[in-house]
Amino acid sequence: MDKKELFEHMRAFPKVDLHRHLEGSISAETLVRIASKYGGTLPAYTVEKLRPHIQMDSESPGFSTFLQKFKVYRGFYPCREAIEDVAYTAVMDAALDNVRYLELRYSPSHFAGLNKFKECEVIEWISAAVKESASDFNIIVVPILTISRDYGLELARNTVRYVSQLPHGYFYGLDIAGDEVVNSAKPFSDLFAVAKKAGLNLTIHAGEACGPKNVLEAVIDFNADRIGHGVRSIEDQEVIALLRERRILLELCLTSNVHTGVIASVDVHPIRRIMDAGVPISINTDDPAISAITLSGEYVEAVTKLGFTESELKAINLQALEHAFHPDKEYLKRQLAHLWQ
Ligand SMILES: [Zn+2]
Repeated sequence: MDKKELFEHMRAFPKVDLHRHLEGSISAETLVRIASKYGGTLPAYTVEKLRPHIQMDSESPGFSTFLQKFKVYRGFYPCREAIEDVAYTAVMDAALDNVRYLELRYSPSHFAGLNKFKECEVIEWISAAVKESASDFNIIVVPILTISRDYGLELARNTVRYVSQLPHGYFYGLDIAGDEVVNSAKPFSDLFAVAKKAGLNLTIHAGEACGPKNVLEAVIDFNADRIGHGVRSIEDQEVIALLRERRILLELCLTSNVHTGVIASVDVHPIRRIMDAGVPISINTDDPAISAITLSGEYVEAVTKLGFTESELKAINLQALEHAFHPDKEYLKRQLAHLWQ
């Protein structure tokens, strides 16, 4: 099978993505289309000229460069219709890549902040657009609330308080993202306890830009159900043992780790060593528009550069389903598990 055939094969392969940010799923094509339809400020208004502003390349990796790309998005959204459109399109793009189950995370503050919308409005708009797109394209989507450590504790507190009072069906998990190097997650731990009490599952970005100590903190202090990335857990065998014993899944993202400078290239990614150590894992995209990837493309990387077999990929998808934040696991398994059996 040549690379093009393999890509088509992997596109047809049903997939689970547990770690994808809405903010990082909005392609240059979508931004240009929305700007021409609704307005909105961009650094360039053609796809070719916009790409370098929002996309990473392997030549200049780095965590802060990666995070800088989101600045273009933050002040962009000109109106309600634009926000609904990006949410609808992000779900459609995942479905067209044959992602069958998607956990899509976003920060309401990202969409509301500079554009003077209320977070509660943003949540309503995105929730409705996600549901409509999921129904139109036959994909199951579970939204996760992201709070950013970079926006400060006060804003996060307000968001979590509001979301904890929402009726069932808006969010099934809480995540903390942002700059792990500059801003510790620690001050946010009380908020996560409140969210857990309110019935939200917890996932914490940790062990990506910083080391295994942060994964330990996410498990012990935050009581995390899953870890966003956690790739650097491999540097400490005690942390690996803890993850294995507690059955905590690492949401691994191959190309994203190259772009943030965590690993030099996909062929040296420790995913196989982590899997062989008995830690549950999933393969995810993180920010497909920023990294210019699809999940199918990531599977091609896993096959060609890391020697993953189709039966291993099936097992990884079934494991991802086991650790999904969907509120009715039995329903989810009835709907999807047969795809990988
Ligand atoms: Zn992430």
